[in-house]
This record gives sequence, C-alpha cells and structure tokens, in this order.
Amino acid sequence: MKKKCYITASVHGMCGGVFSALRILDEATAGNQEVYVFRELVHNRAVTAKLTAAGVHCVNDIDHIPAGSAIVIGAHGVSAGIEAVLRAKASSCRDATCPLVKKLHHIAASLSPDEQLVICGKSGHPEVAGIAGNSGTEAVFIVPSVNEVKALPELTAPVFISQTTVDHQEVTTVLNALKKRFPHIKECSSVCDASRKRQNAVIQLASKCDVILVIGSPHSSNAQRLREIAGQHGAKAFLIDNADEIPDAAVNTADVIGITSGASTPEYLFDAVVEVLESMGFTCGDDAVSGNLDT
Ligand code: SF4
Repeated sequence: MKKKCYITASVHGMCGGVFSALRILDEATAGNQEVYVFRELVHNRAVTAKLTAAGVHCVNDIDHIPAGSAIVIGAHGVSAGIEAVLRAKASSCRDATCPLVKKLHHIAASLSPDEQLVICGKSGHPEVAGIAGNSGTEAVFIVPSVNEVKALPELTAPVFISQTTVDHQEVTTVLNALKKRFPHIKECSSVCDASRKRQNAVIQLASKCDVILVIGSPHSSNAQRLREIAGQHGAKAFLIDNADEIPDAAVNTADVIGITSGASTPEYLFDAVVEVLESMGFTCGDDAVSGNLDT
C-alpha cells in the first residue's frame, strides 16, 4: 500500500503585522478597561472569537462604540475620515494598522488632486477602502484584475499601488497591461513580503501535493489568494477555518497533502490539522525543517 504523507509550507501562518496588532491590543486591554476594536483586529474567526470571549468588543458600526471608550483600529486600517471620528470619540485610540498598510496610506495621501490613484485590489475590502479613503486625489480607480484595465478612462497622471495581500503575479499582469495603456504611470510595488513569501511557498507545495489545505477564514484576503494560487498550480485546494472542516472526500483520495495557513491564522489551528491528518494515518513528509520560518 502506498504511504500517505503530509507536507507543510516552509512559510505559513501569522505575519509580523498581525503579531504587532495583537501586541497593540494587549497593551490596550492591560488596564482591564473595556476595549472596542473597530471591525475585526485581523480577519480570522478564531482570533475574533477568542477576543470576544475575553471581553473585547469587535464592532462594525461606529455608532455602537460609546463615547469615551478605549478604541483600537484593526490591522487593515481605515479611511482618514473614519479615523478622525474614532479619535474624536475615544478616551484613547491605538492604531494597529499594519505599518505596511500605513505606508500605502501615506503614499495615497501624498497624491495631488491632478493625479489619479489606481489600486489593484478587491473592491469593498477594508484595506482598499482605507487606502482610497486616505487619498489626496478624488480620482481613485480600483482594478481587481487585468480585465478591468481596458474599462479605465484616459488617465493623465496615474499612480499605481496594490493591496498588500493580492497575488503578486496577478499584480505584475495588471501593471503590464496598465503600462501599455499609460506608459507614464508611476508605480509602487506594494504586495507585502509576508504575502509574497507565503504565495511562493504554496507554489512550491503545489508541485508536490495532490491536495492542499489552506487554513484561514473565508474573508481573509491573503488566505483566499493562497487557495487560488495552489489551485492555479495544479493542486486541489481547500480553504478551511479549522480541523473540523477537513474535507473527508478529498483527503481520503489523496496520497500527499500540503498544509499552509494565512497570515492571520494562529499556529494552534495549523497544529490541529496536522494532528487530525496523523490520526488518519498520514506521516510527515517534510524533507527540511518545517514550520513558520519567516513572519
Ligand atoms: S499580510 Fe502583510 S500587510 Fe497584512 S498584516 Fe501581514 S505584513 Fe501587514
């Protein structure tokens, strides 16, 4: 009988920006005061559930935050307008926006009204809304994929940035198409290193596995990208929140299963998936030291 094994992605799991956001929240809760997080601190259901159980209020509606509260802005950041309202309401306001997202806010804010901001990212994602909402120009265009490039109007002074967690290969495709239409476009490469490294690691994994399990929540952009990229590179890929969601049918037919996790996924969820696979008879097939080698 063929031996079944699992292989873990050399880079996976929580990134520096998420660790930093958790540390900032810890500081906010240190005095046992009630803390409100505007939206989620990070896009992971288990993290949000744990924070909620510990008494932290994660709220989507500013009106549900009482005046005089201790407030933490989540890792995805907010628009300048929302930040002003939160700061006016708060007794203390800590900003857990990832510094790499904050850098994009500063770039967007530095644009003049004569320039046009072109963002490669997903419409409606809080990070994209936050970047757009800090822009110094009202001319903001969101380009989720190369298909939307031809629909753009003529742009006289376009400046390109991308959401930090999109597929870095897709960003190159979009940028090349933009350069054909707007050879004078100014560009800023802004897929973060953490996303890039996790994406490259899942490509390597896909070349060795039949099935890949990406552990992360469905609303996590970087985890969704990992699932898509694994699928594009030939593996049957599944996005699961936790070990309870391991798809039996896929796992029963696979000889080699790859495991990775998104940048906001706690490592204990990763370990739990490994444990379940081992209980099903899979052995570790890693040929090198595995684990999260880089945040
Ligand atoms: S994925 Fe990148 S941008 Fe997002 S929190 Fe992590 S380091 Fe920051």
